[in-house]
Amino acid sequence: MLVACVVDYHTVRLLGSDQVSIETRVSSIPNQIVLRPAADEAVRIVARLQEAGFTAYLAGGCVRDALLGKDPKDYDVATNAAPDMVRQIFGKSNTLAFGVSFGVIGVLPERRGRKRGQRQATEVATFRSDGSYSDGRRPDSVSFGDPEEDALRRDFTINGLFYDPIERCVIDFVGGQIDLFNGLLRTIGRADDRFNEDRLRMLRAIRFSATLGFQIDPDTEAAIGQHAEAITVVSGERIGAEMRRVLLAPHLLDGLRSLIRTNLAETVLPDLPTLDFDNLTARLAFCRKDDFRFPLAVILATAEKSMQSLRSLAKSWRLANDEVRSLRSSLESHATVLGFADSPWSKTQPVMIDRDVEHIMDLASCLAASEPEPELKKRFLESLEKAERVLQWPEERLNPQPLIGGDDLRSLGFEPGPMYARVLQGIRDAQLNGYLHTKEDATAWAIRKFQQD
Ligand code: ATP
Ligand code: MG
Repeated sequence: MLVACVVDYHTVRLLGSDQVSIETRVSSIPNQIVLRPAADEAVRIVARLQEAGFTAYLAGGCVRDALLGKDPKDYDVATNAAPDMVRQIFGKSNTLAFGVSFGVIGVLPERRGRKRGQRQATEVATFRSDGSYSDGRRPDSVSFGDPEEDALRRDFTINGLFYDPIERCVIDFVGGQIDLFNGLLRTIGRADDRFNEDRLRMLRAIRFSATLGFQIDPDTEAAIGQHAEAITVVSGERIGAEMRRVLLAPHLLDGLRSLIRTNLAETVLPDLPTLDFDNLTARLAFCRKDDFRFPLAVILATAEKSMQSLRSLAKSWRLANDEVRSLRSSLESHATVLGFADSPWSKTQPVMIDRDVEHIMDLASCLAASEPEPELKKRFLESLEKAERVLQWPEERLNPQPLIGGDDLRSLGFEPGPMYARVLQGIRDAQLNGYLHTKEDATAWAIRKFQQD
């Protein structure tokens, strides 16, 4: 074990395939954590458990992120207090039975500090070790154990750290601090075994490495390559959830390369056999990073068969209908935006009022900004500028009321039929392009059309 706050030199046991021991100078490894106010609630819980005589630490991802100086998504607590004891200490009404079978209790903030309706609970998990795995996802059973066992059941060394916020000590049974320092993602224990147990870890490895910019340790990566086909046991929802995070990761391109190198791409990026990395690099540099659909649209638009790829992804990641709709709109309509400068308004207007115009515009602007051919780029950028100006127009100018509708045609005595849609579309186009201005003009136009036919 490595308790980083106490001594300068330590022997760090790396639980790799060959159980090596290495000497390292701990003072060079970051072990200082400055906890942010967001950690207060978890620290309160740790302090309370320790006062009651139990061992309790901050655990897992929050320790990793805090050591890296990043804002953890949430703070988890691990303790040797059994779940029932946790409930007893904090009171039944302040706790939630989160994952009873895994010994996880949700502890709610104290009433004083809790805003009305606020139910944000901190996960308090009893130290445990996992039994055998037979479904490739979850242990068949778990048994409560000590901190070391709890560290060893975790997936990657950088995720296996504890922090005692009272003693201000990092507790490292797995060599996680060195790997954090070296930017290395490696499994705790033999990679082959760990991926055999839980297939989702393969995708988590890619996600953490793409998020943190960490290298994947060669043994870990080789094992992913060997087990890649088995990723199919993971549900589409989980694959989709991890892939959403890969798409928003700062090192997305490295993540995509790792997916391809390890053959995970065959399952998690179906129908995207080859990716043009030169084009992707240029295009992704300009896309928004606040929704996974923006980078995904760029990747799909750069693929050979965009629509087919989208259909396959939608199925394999269980994308929601509105996600598929906005991706489809951007793939179908970005070219219209890029051709705006040379097109009639009637062609572009439906795109400008599309509910997904934000997505269409983002894809168009990535393609415009990264276009290598100078003349084309100039035209694209002109079109984009025009589109952006138009999007500022007031609603009545952007989408004026149609001059006439189906009811008007009926009251003129024309039989409803396929002609209706054609005539009304013709009138709408003429209105948008500035050839028809009044209901009377439109009616006269319609009568002429019906008579011609
Ligand atoms: P983030 O919350 O940013 O995704 P995290 O590391 O907190 O990162 P979680 O999924 O919240 O990830 O899991 C919390 C911790 O539980 C991890 O840090 C890891 O120690 C452990 N863990 C999560 N999933 C697994 C898994 N599939 N196998 C083994 N350990 C896991
Ligand atoms: Mg977490």
